Amino acid sequence: MHLHSRRGFFARTLGAGWLGASLIEQAFFRAAQARAQAPGAPANVFDIEKVAEGVYAAVARPAGVTNCNAAIFENAHDLLVVDTHSKLSAVASLAAQIGKEVSPKPIRYIVNTHFHWDHTQGAPEYKLLAPAAEIISSTVTRNLIAEFGAARLKASLESTATSLESWQQKLAAARTPQEKAYYQRMTSEMRAYLGEMRGWAPELPNFTFSDNLVLHDKAHELHLAFRGRGHTAGDVVVYCPQKKVIATGDLVHGWLPYLGDAYPKEWPGTIRAVARFEFTQLIGGHGGVQHSRERLDQFSGYIRELTEAVDTGKQKGETVEQLQAAIAPATLKSLGGGYGEFVGGQITKYDGPQMRVSPQSAVAGAVKSNIADIFKALNKE
Ligand SMILES: [Zn+2]
Repeated sequence: MHLHSRRGFFARTLGAGWLGASLIEQAFFRAAQARAQAPGAPANVFDIEKVAEGVYAAVARPAGVTNCNAAIFENAHDLLVVDTHSKLSAVASLAAQIGKEVSPKPIRYIVNTHFHWDHTQGAPEYKLLAPAAEIISSTVTRNLIAEFGAARLKASLESTATSLESWQQKLAAARTPQEKAYYQRMTSEMRAYLGEMRGWAPELPNFTFSDNLVLHDKAHELHLAFRGRGHTAGDVVVYCPQKKVIATGDLVHGWLPYLGDAYPKEWPGTIRAVARFEFTQLIGGHGGVQHSRERLDQFSGYIRELTEAVDTGKQKGETVEQLQAAIAPATLKSLGGGYGEFVGGQITKYDGPQMRVSPQSAVAGAVKSNIADIFKALNKE
């Protein structure tokens, strides 16, 4: 195909964003688009679930490189989408799926709940698919993306390249056709990620706020809110009072928390402030939709209990290794009452049965890395 006619094809299918893109951006987008549509590329990366009238969750399927969930709010004339995943092709796939399964209305608002790579790296694709859309975040999150976005991409490329090697060994050792197919898919997705994200640069939110931003749409109100530091320094939630649904990013979700950039002593208080919103359902950044508020209290209780245990031990002079040996999941009250089984099930459901990791050992591994992260974060200003 001649370059000229290919350009014409992309201008037709991709619209105004294409015309505004530089030649380098065009080459980058063209490559991303080709990968998303390549034979063998997964048809859907998400399962879209209706949560309430005009509110949908796009729950991420297992992937070679993790994607976060998205929440979709259907306004009177357009859509607001929460979070933008780890890669451009995931956004391309979700936007197509939204058009088919949710609504043909244009995507007008995109919210980045926080700066983490698996919630932000797909954002440049929206510049192409929805060039008029506003990308919204807290001011703190915009600053964090500007400061760390490129470095976090580099780190994720390096860790993906390392895990690709070990997954190739797993593929070679696969015992059943199902295992073989699973490892083949994972390794090809990792290779695709390494290819598609080469040359990536962060897309910074163009619309920021410090504490509250309310969208007064004819269909409903959407309250975007920052209630304090927690999972990161800048997490925001999106709450719809009419539909009683909240999207929380990684401030609350169905797996165990990640505390590598967290403020562990402040996080439970921030969740308490968010809990003042009168929602009945919660769409978190990972794991399934929560149809009650029960897991929010358990998630918060776990962070509080583990932080206190690590803090007490650290003050006594214990090392990370000693604390990891002493604090087993069974010693944590907060993982009782069925919560440990719940999160274990959520994590292993995502990882897939092929991993042959039991829910118990998945939880034990997560607790160990949480202890190490809390230990480091305790005295953070
Ligand atoms: Zn995160």
